[in-house]
Amino acid sequence: MSRVRLLSDTLASQVAAGEVIERPASVVKELVENSLDAAARTIEVLIRRGGISLIRVTDDGIGMDRDDALLCLERHATSKIRTADDLASVATLGFRGEALPSIASISRFRLTTREKAAVAGTEVIVSGGKIETVRDGGEAPGTQVEVRSLFYNLPARRKFLRSEMTETRNIEHQLYLQAIAHPEVAFAFVRDEKLVFHLPLTRRLRDRIRDLLGHELLARLLEVESATHGKVRVSGFIGQAGVSRATRDQQFVFVNGRAIESPLIGAALKEGYHTALMKGQFPVTFLFLEMAPAEVDVNVHPAKREVRFRDPAGVREAIVRAIRRTLESDRESWQEQFRAPAPVEPSVVRPTPPVAPAEDEQQSTLPVSSQAPAIRVDRSSPNDERPRPSHQFRILGILNKLYVLMENAEGLVLVDQHAAHERILFEELRRRMETKGVPSQRLLLPQVIELTPRDAEWVEQNLATLQKMGLGVEEFGRHTFKLESLPPFLSAGDPARLLQDVIDSLKSASNSSSPLRLGEEMIAKTVCRHAVKANDLLRDPEVEKLIRDLLDCELPYCCPHGRPTMIQISLGELEKKFGRKV
Ligand code: ADP
Ligand code: MG
Repeated sequence: MSRVRLLSDTLASQVAAGEVIERPASVVKELVENSLDAAARTIEVLIRRGGISLIRVTDDGIGMDRDDALLCLERHATSKIRTADDLASVATLGFRGEALPSIASISRFRLTTREKAAVAGTEVIVSGGKIETVRDGGEAPGTQVEVRSLFYNLPARRKFLRSEMTETRNIEHQLYLQAIAHPEVAFAFVRDEKLVFHLPLTRRLRDRIRDLLGHELLARLLEVESATHGKVRVSGFIGQAGVSRATRDQQFVFVNGRAIESPLIGAALKEGYHTALMKGQFPVTFLFLEMAPAEVDVNVHPAKREVRFRDPAGVREAIVRAIRRTLESDRESWQEQFRAPAPVEPSVVRPTPPVAPAEDEQQSTLPVSSQAPAIRVDRSSPNDERPRPSHQFRILGILNKLYVLMENAEGLVLVDQHAAHERILFEELRRRMETKGVPSQRLLLPQVIELTPRDAEWVEQNLATLQKMGLGVEEFGRHTFKLESLPPFLSAGDPARLLQDVIDSLKSASNSSSPLRLGEEMIAKTVCRHAVKANDLLRDPEVEKLIRDLLDCELPYCCPHGRPTMIQISLGELEKKFGRKV
């Protein structure tokens, strides 16, 4: 007796719905994408009770005639591709012809639609996949889809829904993604009868980010100078070094206009920000990757969240380079801030040690370094009539033996001297490692160290790198090594312990990394011990040198662990705090 049977269309749709429609946010995604594909200029989304009770998406796009309004509810009915060749170069967000029948099979569904030139539109009402009513309807040109009681006929799926709050957050995130990817479309979002946002259409991504996330975030973003690396064009905005979030919620990445999640891209962002990001934090990005449609396969996942790249290494490289370049270009404008003239005469003058006039002159003017323009640290007395050079900031004092207080044209600057020193040391050691290697000092008593087989294998593989980093390690027998020298800045109370620490932290930190990256990890992990401790009292010239060296760093605004090295408090902010300005 034969047992194989074809599923009914409704049941097949419900099965497919399991993949495409995981939760209310998936419905919002599919409907908004359809509106975008229909060339809408305005999209309004309304939800009730986390989208479980109602989702309504209204657009002013091209609409459908009656035949299409009925056909679009059939499985595999799409206007977006026709042949297998089209699949290789999809230019629309949708193409699988699955979303509408899937949604209609698991909800109480109503579609109204009207083409611009048509006298009347069409209304179709479907319940659990069965068409119940077809009649004239749809007043304004465009399309409106209403989805009520999602999963009402799939109790198992309904049980998996989270709280209304969580589902609402997911929907909001989905709308953020669409709104950022399409600044040229106006969006409105209404939740439980309250208007959450209304975003006017704009040509500039910058305006859309501001309307959605506010001035303050925008002020902390850098524009990625749009450039092509290999086959990938990268543009958008990214957070300045030190700007980060505890979640990926503000990590927006689009490939050919489609929001995607990809471990590859996540890793590339991290790599680009490396040392400019605190551990466990995620960068803030609004990054747009553009490539020929044939370079990326979007047909990997029914919800099309994931994509497959033809040249993953090239994509990674393009992202890393774009981020590095953007962060580094920010350095110059940042340094300018500190070199702009301080506006007023010093209100706090620190007593200068009594020194001969000639020396005083020398002390207050820092030597001109060959790479960087001269920085003048002006600590002269208020009645000093000398014309002031244009590049200067003023050190006012030190707070709590840790924070250097400075004044620049913008206002007050606080520098964390420990974090600053870490950054300086990190870059200096990295430079040395790239060139002649980190200096090494012989131990009085070489240490013979036995390691576990796995650690021994790791050390063997990375021997050359360890030596470049100033660790004089040599093989000394099976799983045994001799440690003869260490970089002088490492406090070597117990060299064996130290080597084990280095192995443990590096082994987990970077299994795939290049030798250079490995060295950087090691430096970042070890410089802390050597950097100026919080309450090391620095002498005046040392503070000046610290600030000057910091300004010459490649990424001066954060320590190698991504913590900020300095905080600027503008005069405007102070005026607000003192109630001088509203
Ligand atoms: P896909 O988007 O993959 O083609 P869907 O099931 O989401 O599949 O939609 C089926 C078809 O219905 C689309 O190809 C499109 O022609 C039409 N359609 C859906 N939504 C809209 C809309 N908002 N405006 C105009 N046409 C739409
Ligand atoms: Mg679709």
